Amino acid sequence: MNVGFIGLGIMGTPMANHLIDAGHTLFVYDVFKIPAEVTDKGATAVASSAEVAKNADIIILMVPDTPHVDEALFGKGGVAEGLTAGKIVVDMSSISPVETKKFAEKINALGCDYLDAPVSGGDVGAKAASLTIMVGGPDAAFEKVKPLFEKMGKNITLVGGNGDGQTTKVANQIIVALTIEAVSEALLFASKAGADPAKVRQALMGGFANSRILEVHGERIVTRNFGPGFRIELHQKDLNLALSSARALQIALPNTATAQELFNAVAARGGGKLDHSAMVQALELLANHDVA
Ligand code: NAD
Repeated sequence: MNVGFIGLGIMGTPMANHLIDAGHTLFVYDVFKIPAEVTDKGATAVASSAEVAKNADIIILMVPDTPHVDEALFGKGGVAEGLTAGKIVVDMSSISPVETKKFAEKINALGCDYLDAPVSGGDVGAKAASLTIMVGGPDAAFEKVKPLFEKMGKNITLVGGNGDGQTTKVANQIIVALTIEAVSEALLFASKAGADPAKVRQALMGGFANSRILEVHGERIVTRNFGPGFRIELHQKDLNLALSSARALQIALPNTATAQELFNAVAARGGGKLDHSAMVQALELLANHDVA
């Protein structure tokens, strides 16, 4: 299958590599640069997103935020300029559910299908091809793209219509942020009380408090490994989506708001590009004590 891939960053690069390994012909584009590992494997680098769309039947996007998807789809030299009827656009970035519905309508008007298919599992999941993929869009398009999803992820669910994939991802990001906060508070408490936080984490991993966050982010906190991973600035973007949607829905998300303020505090001190486990640094400042 001819597949297009736009956005070869932390996530896009390993995801594209899995598709090449599975025998697909890839056409790739990034506004910044295409990593050599992708072209060395045989992907063709082209000059614009429109060129990607001309060459591919299924066009995947993996860019940072809503404005980047807008630009890649409908900007000058964007996907829309290269589309012909019958192609499928698959946005795997994490962006606004509301804007996603508008993007889907504009792509549908060109005779093409649209799937929103954001992922969870981080760079670790992208490299291991074990991503969770949450999809919104029509059944038939989902079935056509599923073999590609299966090369990049394991837990693949068609949640509903366009926008529902992105809504699911926002829900995911609420849980992840609040769990990082909980793990941070617990390890900070344990450390200040005089226990070895690494041993506390190990002990808790056997019980009810265990989670992937305790395992992965807990280890990052204990070993002070705050290189990304998933950058705080991207998680701020996701919680902004959660909080603005909550305002529109007229519901309160009090702990999501607190988690966002903690990310804001770390970012204000220059930590926006750190891994989101660095949220602990804001709590450490409040406690005047470091976990390790
Ligand atoms: P990244 O910044 O590493 O990569 C994004 C790439 O998109 C960059 O190479 C950038 O140059 C490119 N890009 C930006 N605008 C473009 C445009 N208009 N046309 C073409 N290319 C463009 O980001 P990432 O960490 O790979 O994240 C990508 C998406 O995946 C984000 O929406 C993020 O929230 C989501 N996500 C990331 C993780 C993670 O752990 N990093 C996990 C789950 C989901």
